[in-house]
Amino acid sequence: MKVFSIDTIAAISTPIGYGGIAVIRISGSRSFFIADTLFCGISRTDKPSDWDGYSCAYGKIIYKDEFLDECILSVYKKPRSYTGEDVVEISVHGGIYSAGRILKAIYDLGVRSALPGEFTEIAVINGKTTLTQAEAVIDIIASKGETELRSALSMREGVLYKEIKAVSDSLTKLLAGLGVWADYPDDEDIESIAGISQKNIHNVINNAINTLSKLADGYSFGQLIKSGIPLCIAGKPNVGKSSIMNMLSKAEKSIVTDIPGTTRDVIENEIRLGDLVYRVFDTAGIHETHDPIEQTGTALAKKKISEAEIVLAVFDGSRELDKSDEDIIGLSSNAIAVINKSDLPQKINNEYIKSRYKHIVELSAKTSDGLDELIAAISKQSKRAVAGTDIILNERQYSCAKRAKDVLTETAERIEAGLPLDAAGVLIESALAILSDLVGESPTAAVTRSIFENFCVGK
Ligand code: GDP
Repeated sequence: MKVFSIDTIAAISTPIGYGGIAVIRISGSRSFFIADTLFCGISRTDKPSDWDGYSCAYGKIIYKDEFLDECILSVYKKPRSYTGEDVVEISVHGGIYSAGRILKAIYDLGVRSALPGEFTEIAVINGKTTLTQAEAVIDIIASKGETELRSALSMREGVLYKEIKAVSDSLTKLLAGLGVWADYPDDEDIESIAGISQKNIHNVINNAINTLSKLADGYSFGQLIKSGIPLCIAGKPNVGKSSIMNMLSKAEKSIVTDIPGTTRDVIENEIRLGDLVYRVFDTAGIHETHDPIEQTGTALAKKKISEAEIVLAVFDGSRELDKSDEDIIGLSSNAIAVINKSDLPQKINNEYIKSRYKHIVELSAKTSDGLDELIAAISKQSKRAVAGTDIILNERQYSCAKRAKDVLTETAERIEAGLPLDAAGVLIESALAILSDLVGESPTAAVTRSIFENFCVGK
């Protein structure tokens, strides 16, 4: 493995192009030598290498008697810097040519060009940040919306690290107990020797499996919601499902008609409400029918209800409830009940609907009365669905969590089938090694480089 921290690297850390300022970052043992050689202070004339950490001063960059630019030079002394090494940052005028000339002078003085993400990679190697926190830096830079940014920031705060650390600590403690017991293989009584019971072993492994499942499932669902939270509009024919879809999407994609049973297929639309995107399915009306095409539509609607994260169960407020409405109620107890056509005289048994659903919205798809309440109810339900989907950020972390979970599931099954506990200890150790990879406590050079290749140069 190449030890990057023994040489000195430099790069322009701001976007390359036309801009107000460019920041050149240098990290490594030669950083202060470079600063001493190139910097000529205006009001402060002592050498940058003599400054305290976190100091900066205004001056000129002069190389081989040639004036290159004015600058603000900042020094960070190891270990109190981004990388944990001596770091110098030079803020100069932006522009490719001018900043490039200064960078070339720095290279001339024996510094090499930084690889993409190498500053952050060194920070990980020097223990300034964890691997998962470093990965979050890529996501903060790449965030295009509020939700993505929030996830990346929570990763940067070490939320995933804390979750995994708690699992690792409990497994390590269990392993230590098993180790004590293994020293007395002839003694059957694990509880009196190692202070752990069979129940305790079972609980620790199962709790670990549950936490890892929650994290992995959250990621899978998080990936799904990136393409839109599935939202299904269900109800018998003619209650106003297509009208609600149209109202929500402000697009005439569904056919709105007076003839019951026209929406035979599931119609799909993508809509954005606030910060979230939804894939909205306007289903065929669910009702008893002998028409084979409508029967297919009804079956498809039932499937969509069971798959959707959010269901709107729509009822026609101007009519009394009937058998088809009862069928819908039976299929959608966790739905948001929408009593539509509130602009017409009401005949529906409101009290009955209230007794069957927790969330009810009265709406007129015709006048849009109640639309704000509907959007608020959808958003509230979405927040619950989205919570916890943002702890694992990428495929690498997901695959580690899933592998560790699989190993622990196998361990639990094999203990159940009579596997000796010392052999179970070996399996637990391998799960711990995977978890250590996940948070990057002992990342191999290949793993770290593959992650940091996705960074921009200068970060
Ligand atoms: P779907 O079969 O459930 O998709 O129902 P549609 O959206 O096709 O609507 C059926 C009929 O009810 C159409 O004539 C709509 O114009 C009408 N409709 C839908 N929503 C409302 C509403 O809020 N008020 C009134 N008065 N009519 C509505």
